[in-house]
Amino acid sequence: MNAPFPRPGLLDIAAYQPGESTIPGKDRVIKIASNESPLGASPKVSEAVKGGLNKLHLYPEGPATQLRQALATAYGIEAERIQCSNGSEEMLHMLARSYAGPGDEVIYSQYGFLAYPIAIQIAGATAVVVPEKNLHADIDAILAAVTPKTKIVFLANPNNPTGTYLPDAEIRRLHAGLPKGVLLALDEAYAEYATAPDYTSGLELARSADNVVVSRTFSKIYGLAAVRVGWSYCPQNVIDVLIRVRCSFNVNALAQIAACAALADNAHTEAARAHNTLWLPKVSAALAAIGIPVVPSQGNFILAEFKDAADARAADAHLRSDGIIIRPVAGYGLPGYLRITIGTAEENEALISSLTAYKKA
Ligand code: PMP
Repeated sequence: MNAPFPRPGLLDIAAYQPGESTIPGKDRVIKIASNESPLGASPKVSEAVKGGLNKLHLYPEGPATQLRQALATAYGIEAERIQCSNGSEEMLHMLARSYAGPGDEVIYSQYGFLAYPIAIQIAGATAVVVPEKNLHADIDAILAAVTPKTKIVFLANPNNPTGTYLPDAEIRRLHAGLPKGVLLALDEAYAEYATAPDYTSGLELARSADNVVVSRTFSKIYGLAAVRVGWSYCPQNVIDVLIRVRCSFNVNALAQIAACAALADNAHTEAARAHNTLWLPKVSAALAAIGIPVVPSQGNFILAEFKDAADARAADAHLRSDGIIIRPVAGYGLPGYLRITIGTAEENEALISSLTAYKKA
C-alpha cells in the first residue's frame, strides 16, 4: 500500500467532461456542441504549419515573441504586456495558481465557465459562486461577496454557456468597486463575436489598470481549437509573475506558426464573424418560432430553453437520433436548457428541421 497522497481537495474536483464527438451507430454526425468555428481555420494556416514541419527537432521560441508582436499590432496593445498560453484555459490555471492558494477565495458567477472552479480548486483556493440575475452576472452580488480573503474575480464577457454579456459601464463599476489587490480576470473567449453596441472589450480598461487581465483565445473565431493557443493582456506586474509560473515552452512551435497565420488572414476572420452575425439571429428566430425561446447571445452559440429538464433531455435524444450533437448544460445547473453552436448553413438547417420535427411529434 504505497499509493501517494494527493494534495487535500484534489479528489473532490468534478473532472471536466468534454462534449462527445461521436454517436454510436452513426457514421456521420453534425457536431454543434463545442463552440468551434463552422468555417474552420484559415486555409493559410495549414500552408504555414507545413513550413514548420522540418523544424520539429527544435524547441519552440519560449516567449512566443513573433506571435506576441503580431497580436500587439492586431489589437493595438503592447507586446511586452502579452502572455501566451496553451489555450486560454491554461491562462485561467496560471492566474489561479499565481494569485490564490489555500485560505484564499476566488469569485466567479453562477453560470460561469466550468473551468473556473476547477482551476480554483487545483490552486487549493476556495471557489465562491455568486448567484446570477436572469442569467446575467450580477455585479452588486459579486461586490457583496468580496471579503478580505478574495484574490481573484473571474468573469467571462460574453459568458459561456449563457451567451449573455455585461456592458462596459457594468464592468467598470465592478472594477471600481473591487478593493485594492484583487485581480479582475476578464475572460473574452467570445469577444470577437459580440455585436451589441454597448459591448466594449476590457482591453481598454486593462490598458491603464494594474489589476485587470483580459484573456482571449484562438479556439473560437480563429478556428484553431485543436492547436491550443490563448493569450492575455496583463499589467506589467502580472507579466512579471506569469513568466515565472508558465512552463518553459507552453505554446508549441506549430501552434505559434498557426496562430500567426490565422491572425494575418483578416478576410477569413471577417468571414467567420459575418457568418455568425448572419446565422445567430436566424437560428434564434427559427427556434423561437417553433416555441423554443433562446437567450439573446453575443457569442457563437445559443442557449435554448425547454419546458423542463425532461423536455431538454428528450430534445437532446431526438437530435442525437438525427445525428446531431449539441451540448447539454445540466452540469452548469441549467438542466432545462441546451447549448447549441452556430454551424454551417447546412448544419443550422438540419438543426432547425430536427427540432421542428421534435416539437411536432
Ligand atoms: N473561456 C470560455 C468562456 C470558454 O467557453 C472556453 C472554451 N469553451 C475557454 C475559456 C477555453 O478555451 P480554450 O482553452 O480553447 O482557449
